[in-house]
Amino acid sequence: MIYFDNASTTKALDSVLDVFLKESTNNYANPSSINSFSMHLDIELTRIKKDILKLFKLKDSEYEVIFTSGATESNNLAIKGYAKHYKNRGKHLISSKIEHESVLNVLKELEDVGYEVTYLDVDKNGEISTSQLKNSIRNDTILVCLMASNNEVGSALNYKEVKDIVEKYPKCSFYSDVAQAIGKIDLDYTKLDMFGFSFHKIHGLKGSGLLIKKKRIALNPIIFGGNQQNGIRSGTIDFPSIKANFVALKDALENIKSNYNHVHELNNYLRNELSHIDEVVLNTEEIQNPFILSISLKTKNSSVVVEALSSKEIYVNSVSACNSKKDEPSHVLLAMGKDENTSRNVIRISYCNENTIDECKVFIKELNDILKSIRS
Ligand code: PMP
Repeated sequence: MIYFDNASTTKALDSVLDVFLKESTNNYANPSSINSFSMHLDIELTRIKKDILKLFKLKDSEYEVIFTSGATESNNLAIKGYAKHYKNRGKHLISSKIEHESVLNVLKELEDVGYEVTYLDVDKNGEISTSQLKNSIRNDTILVCLMASNNEVGSALNYKEVKDIVEKYPKCSFYSDVAQAIGKIDLDYTKLDMFGFSFHKIHGLKGSGLLIKKKRIALNPIIFGGNQQNGIRSGTIDFPSIKANFVALKDALENIKSNYNHVHELNNYLRNELSHIDEVVLNTEEIQNPFILSISLKTKNSSVVVEALSSKEIYVNSVSACNSKKDEPSHVLLAMGKDENTSRNVIRISYCNENTIDECKVFIKELNDILKSIRS
């Protein structure tokens, strides 16, 4: 089998699963209880949080870690929790047209209750317009919320420029959804006020993620319960998952350079081969995040091609996992100025460090055979 759908989710590392099993067997107590079995886990949790911040090169005097169920929850908590807490400062937020649904749908809900949102445009490569940000930011703007890398086309944010702009507005903070950038693009996390992601995109466990934020930023909770995690995010702390996911995080951040170089080579190879196929259009001119390659088909139906590849045990996706079952053109490609057919007929190839050039060669051969054999 060839798995080229790593932007949707990845296979958990064996070392992650080993730790999860070991901790679930030995350290299954609830860290919030007051018996000594639990309390030693609570102490270890404090250490793990410090180690997490260290991996991101963040000071634990300045930042804090909140465990969530994944990027969807992190995005919801960061945006809604922030907007509600700081509603008296202003009700204007800035985001972009190419954000993930877990951002766009939260913003829509905020608009319904009286907030105003400016959605920045992107260029033909999916790059968010920072000059438009400069013109849109106001004294009542409380949050700038821009993804570090896009999940459909792999465009990357000029986050340093965003930080420089936001910094001039002391009432405003910068949140970034880094779900597709973490372990892939070498980010300077000190430039972000808050960021969130899911562990399953970096070979960790599904159903768990992080929101990391500056301590000086307050958030209203969006989930209410037993007041765990200082009341910001109630719910029993999943110690075994946290310990296992730390292994995935360490692996992703420490091997970022070699993984990037390897995947860049694969992506270069495929881009070059695909550019010689008449039926195929590359949706970006340049590589920004090499882990994602988006192509469109000119005349064939992409879902038929994805299905035909599946029958050969080659797994890619159309658009993204969240959108692939909707019969709508991609909002990202439309924002990039692509026509409706190009925006609908998409195949997304997304790699991890375990993919090989040989797999890319097989993919090209099978794709060519399929394109010849199916009707337009
Ligand atoms: N943001 C981005 C950029 C993503 O790619 C995804 C996953 N498709 C999410 C948020 C949501 O992640 P999850 O489904 O793990 O909550």
